[in-house]
Amino acid sequence: MSWEDKVRKVVPYTPGEQPNRPNMVKLNTNECPYPPAPGVRKAMEEFDTDRLRLYPDPTASVLVDALADYFGLKNTEVFVGVGSDDVLAMIFMTFFNGKDPILFPDITYSFYDVWADLLRIPYERMPLDDNFHIKKEDYLNKKNGGIIFPNPNAPTGVLVEPEFIEDILSANPDVIVVADEAYIDFGGKSALPLIHKYDNLLVVQTFSKSRAMAGIRIGYAMGNERLIKYLNDVKFSFNSYTMNQTTLALGVEAVRDDAYFKEIVGKIVNTRERVKKELKELGFEFQDSMSNFIFATHPKYDAAELFEALRREDIYVRHFNGERVKDYLRITIGTDKEMDTLLEFLRNYIK
Ligand SMILES: *Cc1c(COP(=O)(O)O)cnc(C)c1O
Repeated sequence: MSWEDKVRKVVPYTPGEQPNRPNMVKLNTNECPYPPAPGVRKAMEEFDTDRLRLYPDPTASVLVDALADYFGLKNTEVFVGVGSDDVLAMIFMTFFNGKDPILFPDITYSFYDVWADLLRIPYERMPLDDNFHIKKEDYLNKKNGGIIFPNPNAPTGVLVEPEFIEDILSANPDVIVVADEAYIDFGGKSALPLIHKYDNLLVVQTFSKSRAMAGIRIGYAMGNERLIKYLNDVKFSFNSYTMNQTTLALGVEAVRDDAYFKEIVGKIVNTRERVKKELKELGFEFQDSMSNFIFATHPKYDAAELFEALRREDIYVRHFNGERVKDYLRITIGTDKEMDTLLEFLRNYIK
């Protein structure tokens, strides 16, 4: 016997690389290519560092209230955390606590199985169809301990409508259904209105993609107040002070500037639609993406080789090694200029 037998052994999630070189084109982790709202900078400059001797507000009420206001909810219907990764981890810990497997797609956010393994939650991966669409039937008649998927799905970019989620909700009233809406602002319709009709729905969103604040780490869940209370009970049994003072002050400013938010999201959507056309002309194939990335394959070129060739030019995209996805590259939508650099390279590569 050794202490090693008692270690909680896990295989951790692998985040995308975070290289930082001048002039590199970074399209590998779905960050926003534009800076946060101007008010965020101002709040940072005006932040009184003397306040840092005090603990932050454990209820994060300024941020919770700002989000509740923005979405027209009660503040008891909103939970905030350190990025949606933290929020999702708390959700797994709080609600996925039975013996039946939780369900998620085989091709999806690769943190779900990591949390499930960490917390010893049984799970089953439901295969997407050949076009990378979620098969709704898989989630309607199967005994399960909970359901989670991103909408739009990652890394496929494929969106489902709220009616699709509603069918899953009404077929599964005894478990929690989580809509991970990390990319919903790029053209999808949120399931949020359904939280008033279904007490088993949690909608999770993040400041990391559409609000240009991956570096500050804010995510939030919205659902009926009983769900939010249970989440808070677990959070306060784990770490009371997750949201630090700067995060709270800056997060509020990001929520307040809706005009800026809509402007940058609009720019990214326009760029995405242009890049879709240009990639098609180059022979790439992909499902229609409603997110800030395109998951594309080329019938004549090896994705792993193309990934390396791009990397040598300091153009970073994401390549996954899974059996069904190894022929694909996930390309984040950057600025028009960044996408032109990528497209220029591809035009020369693909002859
Ligand atoms: C990016 C992402 C998250 C996590 O984002 P945070 O930066 O932790 O808020 C969660 N789910 C999906 C599907 C994502 O792509």
